[in-house]
Amino acid sequence: MRIALFGAPGAGKGSQAALLVKNAGLKHISTGIILRQAIRDGSEVGERAQHYMEQGALVPGSVVRALAEQAVKDCGFDQFVLDGYPRTIEQADWLSKYLEDNGTPLLAVVSIGVPDSVIVNRISKRRVNSKTGENYHLDFKPPPPDVDSSLIIQRADDRPESVLKRLRVYHDQTRPVEDYYRRRDLLVEVDGIGSFDDVHARIMDSLRELQSAI
Ligand code: AMP
Repeated sequence: MRIALFGAPGAGKGSQAALLVKNAGLKHISTGIILRQAIRDGSEVGERAQHYMEQGALVPGSVVRALAEQAVKDCGFDQFVLDGYPRTIEQADWLSKYLEDNGTPLLAVVSIGVPDSVIVNRISKRRVNSKTGENYHLDFKPPPPDVDSSLIIQRADDRPESVLKRLRVYHDQTRPVEDYYRRRDLLVEVDGIGSFDDVHARIMDSLRELQSAI
């Protein structure tokens, strides 16, 4: 199965991808996680990306494309869930061609719907383990007590000024990608309000339905 998760920052793409890894055996491809790791490693890619990410802007397409291309290849072009890619029509076009040329198109793009008002609240309570990159939420998934609390930080781009910018970028540049996939009959819309498990169950139901229709 090859799918992409779509949604605003804070819609729960990362958490849902983790549940799909656990319960559907998919491999998680998050361009955001790869970029944050590159910054931690001090690599050239990280250096190019850092400024854009801290500002809440999109990293240039050529940088992210190379990462997505390698990650999809590393998965053997199958059994993956993309999270945070594609984020522009240009990226979606490139991905369609890349996968179709290989004979491995996406089964579906699952759009997780959450209103902006809920997003801002959710992101303000998001924390991340600066060493492992694991995400937490202060109310719904607090960091476990055995994790060194000095490692638990707020992402620079989760601070209020960056969040508003990321939402603007999402509506201007990323939202049109939803229509792109709708027109190609690949879009599955899922209500993103509720517990992680509720949303996961909705996604699994939709994917089962799609697979049984093939
Ligand atoms: P995420 O972890 O998916 O919220 O991504 C964090 C940040 O990484 C984004 O705000 C962008 O700056 C950058 N990023 C991740 N994926 C992409 C992408 N597909 N295109 C451009 N920038 C990206």
